Amino acid sequence: MEYNNLGKSGLQVSRLSLGSWLTFGKQIEDGIAENLMKTAYDNGVNFFDNAEIYARGQSEIVMGKILKKMGWARSSYIVSSKVYFGDGGSLPTQTGLSRKHIVEACHAALRRLQVEYLDLFFCHRPDKKVPIEETVWTMNILINQGKILYWGTSEWSAQEIMEAHMIARQYNLIPPVMEQPQYNMLHRQKVEVEYSQIYKTVGLGTTIWSPLASGVLTDKYIKEFPEGTRLGIKGLEWLKERQLTEERLDKIRNLNKLALELGTSLPKLSIAWCLKNSNVSTVILGASKINQLEENLTAIEVLPLITAEVMQKIEDILKNKPEHPMW
Ligand code: NDP
Repeated sequence: MEYNNLGKSGLQVSRLSLGSWLTFGKQIEDGIAENLMKTAYDNGVNFFDNAEIYARGQSEIVMGKILKKMGWARSSYIVSSKVYFGDGGSLPTQTGLSRKHIVEACHAALRRLQVEYLDLFFCHRPDKKVPIEETVWTMNILINQGKILYWGTSEWSAQEIMEAHMIARQYNLIPPVMEQPQYNMLHRQKVEVEYSQIYKTVGLGTTIWSPLASGVLTDKYIKEFPEGTRLGIKGLEWLKERQLTEERLDKIRNLNKLALELGTSLPKLSIAWCLKNSNVSTVILGASKINQLEENLTAIEVLPLITAEVMQKIEDILKNKPEHPMW
């Protein structure tokens, strides 16, 4: 495994990490979740990603039990939670980024994960109803109390991230260190264009999600729709509609052909393509089966195959390179 600094922080995060969305506490048995975490850890993964909303708290409960059972040194792994969507309650005080909800969500995550502090705590979305100043102050208080070590954002605009930095600078508070955006071959704008300046100016780190676009960047949807996959789960019709379009399938067939010509697989090529971007601090993997994780964990080996010529072939298939505005 290789490690990167998380943005300009001193924290070393593994280039591949493991997340639990839709899998832990929901799609997979707890025994499989345990096997996934153990395999990841044994292969040098040091970051496990979670959120209050994942399986409405159940995902953190499952992860907490596994962390306890494994008995790994607390200093050897990084665990996160995210606040915004709540863990099931829908009353006005039970979601969002107010001081009240952030503090309560942090305490609940600590209890569920059975840890004394969270290494990373993300604001899962921006909250238009709460002044960013209140959120920055609250994160700083949690850091001072030793309940979180680093804080960040997820799917915030560059402008919102900069506002948080300006407030932190004004009051000498600790600014956000990392952002968690979606990034994959089919979804590129934020990571490649919107944030391009703030990697340099404030040293933004990124923990990118859905590197396989929820499993679409594999060969399994190319022919007929398979049984037992994420996009077939009842209640996730919206995700299927968003991720699996005919236009995408055409591109995926060509990408799959290219992967096979290179002697690799499409999931590995897709993950390695994300790793090629030096502004990506860690790629968060998702897996419902152990063999998927084992395959994905070897994606770093594919990096030398992605030459400038191969990158161009990928661009020619994708035809979605985001335009940089004229500065
Ligand atoms: P991916 O896009 O990589 O999708 C993972 C899913 O794809 C797996 O659960 C599996 O689903 C399928 N898959 C994975 N590997 C393979 C393979 N080799 N061959 C075939 N199918 C495969 O990542 P996720 O969408 O899971 O995102 C990763 C993590 O990012 C999440 O767990 C979460 O921690 C974080 N995240 C954060 C968000 C945010 O808003 N901040 C939003 C979403 C995710 P199946 O077998 O069921 O088809």
